Amino acid sequence: MDLTLTDEQRLIVDTVRAFVEKELYPHEDEVERLDEVSPELAGQIRAKAIAAGLYAANMPAQLGGGGLDAVSVVLVERELGRASYALQMLVERPSNILQGCNSDQRQRYLIPAIRGERHDCVAMTEPGSGSDIRSMATTATRDGGDYIVNGTKHFISHADVADFVILFAATGTEDTRSGPKKKITAFLVDKDSPGLTVTRGSACVSNRGYHQCELSFTDCRVPAANLLGEEGRGFDLMGQWLGATRLTVASTSIGRARRALEAVTEWAATRRQFGQPVGRFQGVGFQLADCATQLEAAELLTLRAAAKCDAGTMTDADAAMAKLYASEMLGRMTDTAVQIFGGMGLMSQFPAERWWRDARVERIWDGTSEIQRHIIARSLLRPYGA
Ligand SMILES: Cc1cc2nc3c(=O)[nH]c(=O)nc-3n(C[C@H](O)[C@H](O)[C@H](O)COP(=O)(O)OP(=O)(O)OC[C@H]3O[C@@H](n4cnc5c(N)ncnc54)[C@H](O)[C@@H]3O)c2cc1C
Repeated sequence: MDLTLTDEQRLIVDTVRAFVEKELYPHEDEVERLDEVSPELAGQIRAKAIAAGLYAANMPAQLGGGGLDAVSVVLVERELGRASYALQMLVERPSNILQGCNSDQRQRYLIPAIRGERHDCVAMTEPGSGSDIRSMATTATRDGGDYIVNGTKHFISHADVADFVILFAATGTEDTRSGPKKKITAFLVDKDSPGLTVTRGSACVSNRGYHQCELSFTDCRVPAANLLGEEGRGFDLMGQWLGATRLTVASTSIGRARRALEAVTEWAATRRQFGQPVGRFQGVGFQLADCATQLEAAELLTLRAAAKCDAGTMTDADAAMAKLYASEMLGRMTDTAVQIFGGMGLMSQFPAERWWRDARVERIWDGTSEIQRHIIARSLLRPYGA
């Protein structure tokens, strides 16, 4: 497998890296301090990203997106992943699942999202239903030409700044081989719909300035025309795009880990104790060596999964392995970085403690590490009928 970057891919990497360094890095400390991105700054970054042609890199070119293949999207995500999450998310990549929109929904939701005019959020998780998504209690009941939605979602990222919600709700039950199960359906719900209330959730240790919200639906009327995909097929739709989303988590983790490794290597080469750079002590140098090796392995695993995605052969396990390994590698990397920075690693004037905190969420969202292992184990056992 040849993973040499094409000239176009090298240009993409250079362009995104330059944007991140010039337009995002300078605002990181302020966002960290305020736990907010001001609407003015958000607007400026979005406008610059659109002007630079970096917006909606994951979306088809014929709809106005970047039209990139999966390998190139990984490269974009990797470079954006170097910056604080709250800032890099302003260079938006609308949710992949929106590609399931019909032609009317494309005009009302997908194309405005690609143009930066409207912003989406995805609402699956509930207080009582996390990894076991199908156990969700939120219901959507048909009433004439509408559905009536009732229930509560929590941990919903950037719902405070979104204009519409990609909502998953139960629309009845179906018989499966393992007994009756809830039928899950996806909907597009405008945030200003009567009956929908959005409130800011608890502060999170990771990713300051990027907020999670609680969504409460009370007899919220959603037109049947806003059903995304087919009724009861929300899980299939989700499954179709979940792999690509997991590669995004892997790519972001790689970008962040690369930045942390660069910073801590420079520190280890220049911080002197006992008359020599600390990196020359084997105890420190070997930690750097392990970090660098694991980072390369994570990157190869992710690029290989992306290449398989482009070839149409990526499995759930390929995406799960990339997400699992890259997010766990990032956790080890940022913890090691704090250790090598010593006491300075824990001080807020250094970014190491932020990278360490921010890394923690990558092992939890978009399916925890345990769920990724579950997917991988299932794919190993399946041929044996187990
Ligand atoms: C900052 C943040 C942002 C988020 N953004 C969004 C969002 O935008 N939209 C959205 O819908 N959700 C979002 N989530 C939710 C996220 O996807 C869930 O937190 C995640 O899926 C885990 O669910 P849970 O927290 O309920 O944990 P649980 O499912 O309750 O899991 C608890 C523990 O049990 C383990 N566990 C559960 N099942 C198994 C199993 N079968 N085998 C082994 N171990 C298992 C888990 O790995 C975990 O360690 C976000 C979460 C966070 C923290």
